[in-house]
Amino acid sequence: GTFCNGERIDTHVLQDGDRIQIGTTTIIKFSLQDSLEEDFQRHQYESATRDPLTNCYNKSYFLERLPSEFAFAKRHDKPVSLAMMDIDRFKKINDSHGHLAGDFVLRKIGSMLQERLRADDFLARYGGEEFALILRESPKQNALQTAERIRKLVETTPFRHEGKRIAVTISIGVATWPAQHIDSGEDLVKAADANLYSAKRRGRNKVVGQKEKRVLK
Ligand code: GH3
Ligand code: MG
Ligand code: MG
Repeated sequence: GTFCNGERIDTHVLQDGDRIQIGTTTIIKFSLQDSLEEDFQRHQYESATRDPLTNCYNKSYFLERLPSEFAFAKRHDKPVSLAMMDIDRFKKINDSHGHLAGDFVLRKIGSMLQERLRADDFLARYGGEEFALILRESPKQNALQTAERIRKLVETTPFRHEGKRIAVTISIGVATWPAQHIDSGEDLVKAADANLYSAKRRGRNKVVGQKEKRVLK
């Protein structure tokens, strides 16, 4: 049976604020919004979940989503990968070209990544010059290929700010579930971070995946 505001109904014209009950566990509130109100609500939502500089999702939203992404992968027995990316020697870019040039590089990398990802990839700005990318249903080899594609794209894209060419490269650590010692989203972040650290140690502008520490490039 379907109920509206506590009364059982067959047909009913909905009005703002109506509560529709379907079965015993689902209640839906019907709310009529004008376009101004809708814009406002959308803006509130976007500013809570997105980073204003790059328009990528922000870290707090990433951390909120990560456990459910992991749980979903496990429940459906589908692999999931995480790529942690960090711009190389970014401090030097700020020091030599200024912070506005640094901001420009961050914005451009954010938009380049967003343009090229699949619709169900989840990209967030994790820290100052760090981005985290959740790759759903991506086994290790696919994730490594995607990461390598990103690394190459950044290396070969001309970054130009106020007439000056800025050389930009990125290091990427990739981790994939299923794998030993990975049993949560947090473990995935730790493993990807450790691989990112290896990529930096090995000279930067590299992709490193877990276990056999395969280095592409
Ligand atoms: P590494 O290759 O080891 O990653 O070196 P790095 O210089 O990239 O790393 P480090 O952590 O030393 O420096 C990161 C810099 O990123 C320092 C900080 O000022 C800068 N940064 C963080 N957030 C922003 C931002 O929003 N805009 C700009 N322009 N710079 C930022
Ligand atoms: Mg960093
Ligand atoms: Mg860096």
